[in-house]
Amino acid sequence: MTAIPGDGIGPEVMKAVQRILAAAGAEIDWEEAEAGAEVFKRGIATGAPQETLDSIARNGIVLKGPLETPVGYGEKSANVTLRKFFELYGNIRPVRELPGIKTPFSGRGIDMVIVRENVEDLYTGIEHMQTAGAAQCLKLITEPGSERILRLAAALTQAEGRKKLTCATKANIMKFTEGMMKRVFERIMPDYPDLEPSHMIIDNCAHQMVIAPEQFDVVVSTNMNGDIISDLAAGLVGGLGVAPSSNIGDHAAMFEAVHGSAPQIAGKDLANPTALLLSAIMMLRHIGDFAAAEKVEQALLVTLEEARNLTGDIAPKGTGVGTTAYTDQVIANLGRTSGFASRAYQPLTLPQWPEGVWHHPPQTREVTGVDVFIETGAEPPALAASLQTAVAGSGLTLKMIENRGVQVWPAHSGRPFLVDLFRCRFMLEAPRDNADAAIAQALAGIGAGHHWMHVEKLQRFDGRDGYTKAQGEN
Ligand code: NAP
Repeated sequence: MTAIPGDGIGPEVMKAVQRILAAAGAEIDWEEAEAGAEVFKRGIATGAPQETLDSIARNGIVLKGPLETPVGYGEKSANVTLRKFFELYGNIRPVRELPGIKTPFSGRGIDMVIVRENVEDLYTGIEHMQTAGAAQCLKLITEPGSERILRLAAALTQAEGRKKLTCATKANIMKFTEGMMKRVFERIMPDYPDLEPSHMIIDNCAHQMVIAPEQFDVVVSTNMNGDIISDLAAGLVGGLGVAPSSNIGDHAAMFEAVHGSAPQIAGKDLANPTALLLSAIMMLRHIGDFAAAEKVEQALLVTLEEARNLTGDIAPKGTGVGTTAYTDQVIANLGRTSGFASRAYQPLTLPQWPEGVWHHPPQTREVTGVDVFIETGAEPPALAASLQTAVAGSGLTLKMIENRGVQVWPAHSGRPFLVDLFRCRFMLEAPRDNADAAIAQALAGIGAGHHWMHVEKLQRFDGRDGYTKAQGEN
């Protein structure tokens, strides 16, 4: 397996976990690989050198410490790069009350898993400055991307002997993107008659997680929403310091703690290795070594239950010890059983997705117009007048102009604050085969007198509009 110790406290917690796994008899051949801060410093923009990528491709299983992400412009996160390069589309984050870790929710029996889509949505990282003062990020959610994560969540629910599967989205507002996951969920759930599926709006889900967290079993969500609720859920049972995760794909799986590199405590023998150890336990189950996973988990649970020799962040006041002493205590407890029952875990079997480009063209397709995004300081009536002149004779007519989603021409009562980015919607006067030519002609006219930076074709797929209306648009 590939071990990436990473930055800050990473090497210390990795060493602790490797010692515990070895003492438990898990036979692992580690191949150490590099990623993170030092790699960025050497000018490798991905934060992960080719040898590391090759090692992951060869071994398919990775245990990873935290990687620092340079803040600001330029470099992408090495974590996100690894997830994307290996198409680790499923982020699984179990959230379970642990013995000895006191929180305001202790005793409520919290035991859930958050499954987060890991590669699509706003994390595609496609961002553009539209004007010098208006930024845009593309929220991309696909049908196969949604189906893969939903089927992973359903398979995990079954493999862990759970029943309830909650799909949490913002489909009420983002009908196409977030709505995609909800629609696919409704389409595929009849394939899982043993499960109890339900949909929840994501903001209510966040609320319910605080009000009644014990109601949840498995929650599946889109990338950004899943990112937020999984941290929220981790906070209910003791925080990021004890939160494990896995990143699952068809060809590789990467296991890591949720916390970062905690540079303030790095190299001081203070770090708590529990989160990485829980991640390693997930890894052992993933490769089918259920016996070793159970042995290590029980030793950890006994250690937490007895609250002897815990690291400072979770120890009873004044009793904290270092990483090494805590690790020794877990090793000493190997072979003991806690009062905490384990689940009857089953291997997780996932459908393999065909290689090649996913392409499902619609039965019918029609171009009905175009949205052109224009930068101007002009008021909407003046902009409308100049655009009507610019597209005259092209076969397209200006239908409306909006600003940050609200129609401002033709005007409504009310006066939204205007910025210098306007979306101008032009509709074809009549259906035509050569819509692209009409759009090109209109764009040439618009470009002669306006700054445009972005164009979206308006299309109907199988008789349905593939675009939303602005607030106030008829
Ligand atoms: P962080 O490293 O998780 O640290 C926040 C605080 O949490 C630490 O200062 C420490 O608190 C505590 N903490 C975290 N892990 C701990 C552990 N194992 N044992 C004991 N205490 C622990 O978050 P951050 O400061 O926001 O991020 C630092 C760097 O990590 C950044 O460069 C970030 O990009 C990176 N990061 C990487 C990952 C990843 O690789 N997956 C994830 C998150 C962040 P005290 O100061 O109270 O001791």
